[in-house]
Amino acid sequence: MLPYNTLAEAEVALGRPLTCLESLWIGYSADKSDYFLFCHNILFLFLIFTVVPLPYILIDVLGLKGFDKYKIQPGVRLSARQILSCYKDVMKMFFLVVVPLQLVSYPTFKMIGFRTGLPLPSIWEILSQLLVCFLIEDYSNYWLHRWLHQGWGYEKIHRVHHEFTAPVAFAAPYAHWAEVLILGIPTFLGPAIVPGHMITLWLWVALRQIEALDTHKGYELPWSLTRLIPFYGGAEHHDYHHFVGGKSQSNFASVFTYCDFLYGTDKGYRYHKKLLSKMKENAQRVTQKKQD
Ligand SMILES: [Zn+2]
Ligand SMILES: [Zn+2]
Repeated sequence: MLPYNTLAEAEVALGRPLTCLESLWIGYSADKSDYFLFCHNILFLFLIFTVVPLPYILIDVLGLKGFDKYKIQPGVRLSARQILSCYKDVMKMFFLVVVPLQLVSYPTFKMIGFRTGLPLPSIWEILSQLLVCFLIEDYSNYWLHRWLHQGWGYEKIHRVHHEFTAPVAFAAPYAHWAEVLILGIPTFLGPAIVPGHMITLWLWVALRQIEALDTHKGYELPWSLTRLIPFYGGAEHHDYHHFVGGKSQSNFASVFTYCDFLYGTDKGYRYHKKLLSKMKENAQRVTQKKQD
């Protein structure tokens, strides 16, 4: 709940006129509790899990031929029934684990010092905090994910996420309940280290999940803007991790590629890519010869 109820009160408190965005924020949040604002994450996550994967799911289900050349594992195509079953399992996990976790984790977020009032964070504050969150998430997720590939962790927990050897976007949050809790730690660490405004937290929770859906979508699209992000792993990088499956000792990082490079866990992937490009070259040479 904000300490002022009207725009005039807020302007007096800040000692300056409000910006357009600040007026909108006051108009929306003034009569809402901080807990209610925090719980917006539940709605955002539900919409992201449901809506963001839809374009890729439709491409898969409708079998749009124009996208075949961008499919990372063209030999594998899940049926509409399998995809729907994946979504149902994800929703079950969402309502049984993610929602209760969000509801009870508010005191922890309150303790680390999130603010909901004015002034709103600048774009640079938001971007720098998001960058820190992504770097911390990527590094800590890398090691926890590696640990989940050890015998017990894999057999009892992580095996569920690897049921999809050729992932689809809905499969990003498809995991054992314990994995949802364990890999929730890296998502929480960033905001704990650089706490900011509630809007930054909303953005972080949303972008982290959109990024996870992006890496599981099963397509490497040449026009994807994420290709402009330095060291971004993307769908091809994580798809290889699923392709190799349980024995995978490759491509553990969730966002960037540098951890796998630094710790030597991308050797198999780099060899695989080299092999694929050689096969492509040979196929092109054969086609060229036939045409000559
Ligand atoms: Zn894995
Ligand atoms: Zn995955």
